[in-house]
Amino acid sequence: MLLFTPGPTPVPESVRQAMATPTLHHRTPEFEAIFKETRDLLFKLFATDEVIILASSGTGAMEAAVTNLCHDTLLSVNSGKFGERFGKIALASGLKNVEIKHEWDTPASVEELVEAVKANPSIDALAIQVSESAGGLRHPVEEIAAAVKAINPSIMIIADGITAVGVERIDVENIDCLIAGSQKALMLPPGLAILGLSNEAIKKTGEGKGYYLNLASEIKKQKQNTTAYTAATTLIIGLRAVLQEIESYADGAGVGKLFCDTARRAKATHLALEALGLHIYPKTPAKSMVTIDDKNAKEIRDLLKTDFGVNVAGGQDHLKGKIFRINQMGLIETYETVWVVNAVELALAKLGRRDFDGTASRIFNEEYFKSMLKKEEK
Ligand SMILES: *Cc1c(COP(=O)(O)O)cnc(C)c1O
Repeated sequence: MLLFTPGPTPVPESVRQAMATPTLHHRTPEFEAIFKETRDLLFKLFATDEVIILASSGTGAMEAAVTNLCHDTLLSVNSGKFGERFGKIALASGLKNVEIKHEWDTPASVEELVEAVKANPSIDALAIQVSESAGGLRHPVEEIAAAVKAINPSIMIIADGITAVGVERIDVENIDCLIAGSQKALMLPPGLAILGLSNEAIKKTGEGKGYYLNLASEIKKQKQNTTAYTAATTLIIGLRAVLQEIESYADGAGVGKLFCDTARRAKATHLALEALGLHIYPKTPAKSMVTIDDKNAKEIRDLLKTDFGVNVAGGQDHLKGKIFRINQMGLIETYETVWVVNAVELALAKLGRRDFDGTASRIFNEEYFKSMLKKEEK
């Protein structure tokens, strides 16, 4: 069965092998050396002033960011389940919350956030997803961050990049905290979260808030290549292997080439499915996944699984049975995605929606291999 859900994503063979080595003690020079190498690789990927690894799922890093970087009112954007979570974390932590809410296909606008910040002087942090996985949409985070900083540079900008770090380049110039999680774009089993922090964010953590999710104590320890509490040693060894795998992607072309191929593959998938008469759900699609809303979403998803060996994700809450989401994160073989779009076309034929004529794989191939095909014409 091909795993094509936007988290968890498949773990590469080399990474599984790396994690099969005997357990190391976390307070040893041997592990500290691994931790340092992993940190160095993370600095390259995040391009932030500091990086912190936590043993938690992604939500743990969201909570750490909110409780350490917001001391009064959190402005959050709810265009889906994960944006909604930021508001819930703020309220559960005794903070105030101003929420901007949209349908799950609709991104936040720069104007409405600027307005909210101007109207609420107690807002001291903004939390938003780069890629909101609930409906597969991309928020204009970089533009929003720049506009909010222009009004008040002390407002902390928290960007949840759990389905964006490792997918595309994110400009962190105005971002104070960029979050990643292990089981999405980083191709690891669940259990690790990473925060990239700005120097301003480090200052704001001050003495730190909370106990386990206290960023000040983690920063102090992780600068010394160790962790405040027992490190998730096996997952960190896996993380180092993933980051090395990304660095050596396409015979050493590296992360830039990975971002480029991911964007091409997402676009080719998008065009192939549109050519079948399907509709892309989000108004501003993220590159991390391709999301289709369809009256037969459930039937298509079931057929993909039972007849064609493909596992794609459905929708949650009010979108249950109404959408399906095809992953684009991680190291994906192009031929696998060609099979997925072909399988969607076969499923539509099986449902009597349209005759099968190979449109999906043809359009995918023409789009993805466009430059190569052009060269051959000459
Ligand atoms: C999956 C996801 C999360 C939550 O991560 P968990 O690991 O399930 O805690 C948060 N934000 C986004 C955008 C996600 O896709």
